[in-house]
Amino acid sequence: MLTNSRLVHQFHDHDRCINAALASAYSLCAEKNARMTATRESVLRLLWQSHQPLGAYQLQDQLSRLLNKPVAPATIYRAVDFLLGLGLIHRIASLNAFISCPFPNSEHSNLFMICNECGCVAEVADASLNTLLQTACDKTSFELQSQNVELFGVCPQCSAPTINEDISHV
Ligand SMILES: [Zn+2]
Ligand SMILES: [Zn+2]
Ligand SMILES: [Zn+2]
Repeated sequence: MLTNSRLVHQFHDHDRCINAALASAYSLCAEKNARMTATRESVLRLLWQSHQPLGAYQLQDQLSRLLNKPVAPATIYRAVDFLLGLGLIHRIASLNAFISCPFPNSEHSNLFMICNECGCVAEVADASLNTLLQTACDKTSFELQSQNVELFGVCPQCSAPTINEDISHV
């Protein structure tokens, strides 16, 4: 099983996440002969600000502020389509928002664990889940074209007791 859940759910040096993500984005672009433009990189960086998803409108708003000029929705959609196409980001359909991918170019399950409290999203890839879904489709003669599994719940950080509660129990 491949996941970034430990990073997402714990305090960590997020700059390392950003640096690793940009390095892998550039190597993926080189490999696929795709061009990472300044706008595309800015949108990717915005999505890597945190482990929380952003909608197209939030991206448009934040990019406008970053560039200090209005940005057209089409600019955002073109950048997002490029990043989706390379697997550098994913769309969380139920939130109509986008999340950065922690392991592009690896086997994927497109399984997302979305915290109802803090909004963070962890991604999981698991070959046995893929086998299970493929088997279910095979048995029903359903042609699987894409899969997206979105789980909603409470992350370990949000379900952990706060420090104050800890003290009151002592
Ligand atoms: Zn991080
Ligand atoms: Zn991914
Ligand atoms: Zn949480």
